[in-house]
Amino acid sequence: MDTLVNNFENNSTEPVYRSMITPEEALQLVLDTTKQLPAEKRATHDSTGYVLAETVRADRDQPPFDRAMMDGYAVPGEAAGQSLPVVDQAPAGQSSSRHLSKGECVEIMTGAACPCGTVAVIPKEQTSSNGNGVIMPSRMTPGQHIAYRGSECQKGDVVLSPGDRIDALAMAVLTSFGKTHASVIRSPRIGIITTGSELVSPGTIPGPSHIRNSNGPMIAAMTQGFGVKHVIAHHANDNTSSIIECIDQFAEYDIVLLTGGVSAGRFDLVPEALKLCGSDVVFRKVRQKPGKPLLFACRRNQLFFALPGNPLASHFCFHYYVGPAIRKMQGRKPSLHRIPGRLKEALKPNPERTHFVLGFVDYTACQGGLPLLQPQLGKSSADIFHAVGPNCYMEIPSGKSVIPAGQAVPFSSIEQI
Ligand code: AMP
Ligand code: MG
Repeated sequence: MDTLVNNFENNSTEPVYRSMITPEEALQLVLDTTKQLPAEKRATHDSTGYVLAETVRADRDQPPFDRAMMDGYAVPGEAAGQSLPVVDQAPAGQSSSRHLSKGECVEIMTGAACPCGTVAVIPKEQTSSNGNGVIMPSRMTPGQHIAYRGSECQKGDVVLSPGDRIDALAMAVLTSFGKTHASVIRSPRIGIITTGSELVSPGTIPGPSHIRNSNGPMIAAMTQGFGVKHVIAHHANDNTSSIIECIDQFAEYDIVLLTGGVSAGRFDLVPEALKLCGSDVVFRKVRQKPGKPLLFACRRNQLFFALPGNPLASHFCFHYYVGPAIRKMQGRKPSLHRIPGRLKEALKPNPERTHFVLGFVDYTACQGGLPLLQPQLGKSSADIFHAVGPNCYMEIPSGKSVIPAGQAVPFSSIEQI
């Protein structure tokens, strides 16, 4: 029988590991074992999604000059209601050498530097022409439509800090201040090892007892959703030396994801191979459905997730355990963002284990303030063919055999590519 705590027995030489723990405990153990990766220098344009490891300061005032915010006319003081001759043009990218004097104006474009003496920029649409000059509106406010030099930030100000994620706006900030390279937290190198002598590659014609290897490409696709760029997959047959050979090839990788061969069958040899490679098992088996046989081990800072071969179990275990570990390595907030939703239909879970159900959350349809959750149940727990399109996992706590429609349950969104 499975033990709740560990496999340690008196006089046993086996290392201690946890078994049949709850998903929360298992996730906590994963996160406790995972370390943030060190920083590396990257070209800024190739850093989208990375987390900054340095403080970025403005290399110049922003705006760097008094900038016109509208297409129109730069005017000096006392211009309201006046008809002013246009004495120059100020296009974006050029500095007008003209000093604006009383009774004249300069035609100016958005983004251009205001000439000296500018008190306001009057939008073109608020003016009219009388042939000799431009008639200004009867009211104007000093400073209107001018972004003054340094008004957004000044040279030396901190504009980004360690821990900030480089999203599209942060990319604009970095490039505005001339950062062609940035120090960012390295993203993990991930090795995938699919196991199973029944598996053939997708381009091969399968024999009668073969199936195509879908876990490898599925897991590679999931890693892409986390911005992981260095992912390589190998395949091992169901023999220990073949699995060890693959593990050895990933000796320098941060995370090794194995699929299949972790259950109780005679040819489920992944746990033995991991042991022979010198890894320490942290836990094996979790009280969850799907993915009960999940095994998690480590060797120094290297993490091994032995995911059950059933594609939906692999998918779920990646979502719930591997994803948070990747995020922690990348310096991102690791935990899953779990929020409540409302079940659209009743569920009959296995009361012994926490049940994770693929589904679709519709944020536009709410009931009692919570988004509606449509479970997407296939013909079996291994059926991926009815599982295209879900965007979340609902979490049904153990202990109940029927959960009625309308019940509030937590769910977490699946990180999409
Ligand atoms: P296992 O965990 O090795 O006992 O595999 C459980 C089920 O998942 C079996 O039906 C396998 O054929 C299937 N399976 C294992 N690995 C893969 C894979 N890479 N792609 C598709 N199905 C797989
Ligand atoms: Mg197998």
